[in-house]
Amino acid sequence: MKILIINNSNKYDIEIESILNDYFVYLNNFCAIIPRYEIMMASDELRKEVVKMNAESQNITQTFIEYFQNNAYLELKGELAKHFKVEELSQSKTIILSKDSKISYPWGEANSFLAVIKNITKYNIWHEFSHTFGLDDHYYQENKKEKSICTLENCIMRYGKSSLEFCESGKLELRRLVNEIVNIA
Ligand SMILES: [Zn+2]
Ligand SMILES: [Zn+2]
Repeated sequence: MKILIINNSNKYDIEIESILNDYFVYLNNFCAIIPRYEIMMASDELRKEVVKMNAESQNITQTFIEYFQNNAYLELKGELAKHFKVEELSQSKTIILSKDSKISYPWGEANSFLAVIKNITKYNIWHEFSHTFGLDDHYYQENKKEKSICTLENCIMRYGKSSLEFCESGKLELRRLVNEIVNIA
């Protein structure tokens, strides 16, 4: 699994890298096997391209998905081509870090292959990155109240939490999701 980091934040690349490495160490506490991963830092050119895309976009997630799709069909032209091969796309994850990202939520948003992060903290990077594996929020969007499956007051998947702990059901679900990824890889 390739993880492309487009770091347009004021944090150093090495800091972001260690936040992700820590995440996999944490996963390894309750997942028997974790996916093999490789972290790549986007080139300056790609970082600039994404700044431009964001400036011209209403929603950077949507714009990036279109860019991805178009580039995939065109066999990845442009800057992205220097980071991915087409056949790797389905098993790759991209993380865009910028406090200026145009998205629908205040801290970040994510789907299975892209996390856009505005609140660039360790706990929020862990939270959003977990979404890329398919883990849902442990709160209801409408009222921010916790879901009944969540048994830990400070669970990282609840709203606005700054912890680095998942509740038991979060761990179970992550283990199941991570297992799926390892098995198809
Ligand atoms: Zn979330
Ligand atoms: Zn929870």
